[in-house]
Amino acid sequence: MDIKKFIEKEPVLEDVKNLKPTLWINPNKKYGDAVWEGIDFGMEEIEDADKRLRRFAPLLKKYFEDTREYDGVIESPLKKISNLEKVLKEENFMGDLYLKMDSHLAVAGSIKARGGIYEVLYHAEKLALENNLITENDDYSVLASDENRKFFSKYTIQVGSTGNLGLSIGITSATLGFNVIVHMSNDAKQWKKDLLRSKGATVKEYEGDFTAAVEQGRAESDKDPNSYFVDDENSMTLFMGYAVAALRLQKQLEDKKIVVDKDHPLFVYIPCGVGGSPGGVTFGLKKIFGDSLHVFFIEPTHAPAMLIGMATGLNSKISVKDFGIDGKTEADGLAVGRPSGFVGGVMKTILDGIFTISDDKLFDYMRLLNDNEGVQIEPSSCAAFEGVIKLNEYESSKEYLKKNNLSDKMKNSTHIAWATGGKLVPKEIMEKYLKTYL
Ligand SMILES: *Cc1c(COP(=O)(O)O)cnc(C)c1O
Repeated sequence: MDIKKFIEKEPVLEDVKNLKPTLWINPNKKYGDAVWEGIDFGMEEIEDADKRLRRFAPLLKKYFEDTREYDGVIESPLKKISNLEKVLKEENFMGDLYLKMDSHLAVAGSIKARGGIYEVLYHAEKLALENNLITENDDYSVLASDENRKFFSKYTIQVGSTGNLGLSIGITSATLGFNVIVHMSNDAKQWKKDLLRSKGATVKEYEGDFTAAVEQGRAESDKDPNSYFVDDENSMTLFMGYAVAALRLQKQLEDKKIVVDKDHPLFVYIPCGVGGSPGGVTFGLKKIFGDSLHVFFIEPTHAPAMLIGMATGLNSKISVKDFGIDGKTEADGLAVGRPSGFVGGVMKTILDGIFTISDDKLFDYMRLLNDNEGVQIEPSSCAAFEGVIKLNEYESSKEYLKKNNLSDKMKNSTHIAWATGGKLVPKEIMEKYLKTYL
């Protein structure tokens, strides 16, 4: 593919090609109602997903001890990180800083506990309703009976994953009684494979990258009429599971009396792989907060799939390989070469921009958070802080703030770094991470 013409049109792509950390500002972002032109799904679908999750709360409470604190609802704290905020204010950060701790979500210990678990439950409910195991008004904990588990054991769920989606789908499916096969790319960490196998999931490993694992998983699943494939690149169900986060965050902000309006902008920074989880969360947040919301994704310099997809307009029709980029990064959750075309399309009018981050910085930010807040999250997660820190550094972001009339509002702004994973990382591996790139 001749990429020269793309670089001429979007000079930032020169930095991307050269693996230089950068910021792409989305020129296609829209405001007001114009955001939603051509998008034919919205709040109704998000609320439907929220209700489904609530129907399953009694079952989740029964199976997973760590969901009991919130009565079977899988949700994470929004934590004010004042110490780190103070440190960053000595540089040029302005506003209030929070950590959305999806890193510590129940069951799967990552943001994948939202979409991944939701899609397994969606499928389980469909099967259970069609076969008269339950009605929508029943207490779903009956699905834990031996007889109902035996019913689920006739069905298989499959997924391709770099790790965390596999954990989420694998743990949930196996716990409900399904057969589950997780197709893992070569970036997947050994401990994630071991954990999955210990839960009863079948793990298949491939030499290729994430896209290859997905392809093989899909092909294998398609051969079996009783098998269901979770499609990380195109699933609307996953997307809506992630979007529910917005309803929950809205309530958390209200509870903390944090105002979001045009004079009190909300900035959210989310690490991005294939795009489904940050895209779903962003979609939901935009529905609620409209023009007061500003969202940036962050990708590794070695795997800037969504940036390349959106900046060229080709979405899933282009891969980082077309830019001569290898896709290799310590951020295993973000090690994706080709983005979701579906998400890229939806984000076109919504997303503010995408930062790229070099791997060494991931570990610096991990230490920064650990030293100041005593919170440990995995490398992929730490990418969020690149947005927090660099928003006031790049010329392009300063220009963006000015153009959006935000410069004088920064002192009233709220910033959320979305921590996307970490709880399940074994202690000795976390300790090793904390000493990486020192
Ligand atoms: C999966 C994942 C992401 C990114 O989600 P995508 O849906 O692939 O964009 C970010 N951080 C962590 C820890 C993840 O596991």
